[in-house]
Amino acid sequence: MVEAALGHRKTISILGATGSVGLSTLDLIRRNRDSFDVVAVTANTNVDELAKLAIEFDAELAVVADELQFTALKQALAGSHIKCASGEDGLLAAAQANAELVMAAIVGSAGLSPTLAAVNRGATIALANKECLVCAGDLFMEQASKSGARILPVDSEHNAIFQVFDFNAERSVEKIILTASGGPFWDRRRDCLKDVTPAQAVKHPNWTMGQKISVDSATLMNKGLEVIEAYHLFPVRVDQIEVVVHPQSVIHSLVQYVDGSVLAQLGSPDMRTPIAYALSWPERMSAPVDRLSLAAIGNLTFAEPDLVSFPCLRLAKEALAEGGAAPLVLNAANEIAVEAFLQGKLGFMDISSLVKATLDKVDMKAPQSLSMVCEYDQEARSLASQLLAKFER
Ligand code: NDP
Repeated sequence: MVEAALGHRKTISILGATGSVGLSTLDLIRRNRDSFDVVAVTANTNVDELAKLAIEFDAELAVVADELQFTALKQALAGSHIKCASGEDGLLAAAQANAELVMAAIVGSAGLSPTLAAVNRGATIALANKECLVCAGDLFMEQASKSGARILPVDSEHNAIFQVFDFNAERSVEKIILTASGGPFWDRRRDCLKDVTPAQAVKHPNWTMGQKISVDSATLMNKGLEVIEAYHLFPVRVDQIEVVVHPQSVIHSLVQYVDGSVLAQLGSPDMRTPIAYALSWPERMSAPVDRLSLAAIGNLTFAEPDLVSFPCLRLAKEALAEGGAAPLVLNAANEIAVEAFLQGKLGFMDISSLVKATLDKVDMKAPQSLSMVCEYDQEARSLASQLLAKFER
């Protein structure tokens, strides 16, 4: 394998360092120590892992979001020069610390405020947290354009599109096509899905990911969130975004042009490829992922998504078309529903029912500021939590 060091050392902060994307990011940095200086790392509650990483990567700042864990973090880092912080202010400090690149890999809408803080200071954002764009896409992209922050998509589909989208000839793009693995149940019909357990739902056939996104992949809500994400990241209309099920997860997404050409990015399903692309952009760095062997794979297959068995994708597309606060409400209700499902309180098919019931009850205008986004998000969450009782097992 050719090892390529980057042209210059980059400073980087990792929000959500202890998660699946955070750890993959640090794995790449570990293998390319000459190219990166880690400034700040954050976690929610996992103090032991956070302290271990902060020491290994000689970070300047370690932040635990859960304030109750602050003392434990301080103890774990006693004797080192690493500063500690906690809570929302701590996360903001990590985002605002002087790093040119910020990996935004907190899960859920909790990632929004810190990521926006990094956007507002004009940092380059490697964006894994799709909920930022789902909850506050217009606001997020407006702030990025004001501050000059560059957004580099990390989600494998959007990273693929970013690699093959001709930004100098936007009008020659006819559509973008997001591929969906379909998750573990893509070939099951609705009546075979109601008794699915959390353990089955988080067992993704191709990707290793955090629990929440794994459940979202199983319901196809993940693909719905990605349609909304794509709408904000790329200069296309809603009707120019298509989804196709591709169970092998080899083609990560495609762009179709007016001359009939279709350009795609392919690779093994390993998040370290899109993460490496974002970390090293506009250069490329080596990543220790399995190389693709098309002959060994043999067949690539495709199918239309089944919107009857997987209504979450339809709900997300409808929320995007409706606009206003609908995507934010969809996301908040989904986060409540997924958590309840993982705790065994809600059935798999009731995830979409709870999201729909919440969307049906709420009528909010588009939020114009971060405080409005947070307020609406809280409102939608408490409504979804109340409605949960109707569906609880
Ligand atoms: P994980 O659940 O594996 O990790 C989440 C990270 O965020 C952890 O560091 C966790 O800390 C931290 N965190 C959780 N809740 C909070 C909170 N309330 N405040 C602050 N920090 C918090 O998630 P993933 O890595 O799977 O996903 C991260 C994001 O990237 C998601 O938005 C997901 O949709 C997106 N994404 C993920 C992909 C993947 O392959 N995993 C692919 C594409 C996108 P702790 O460890 O202490 O809980």
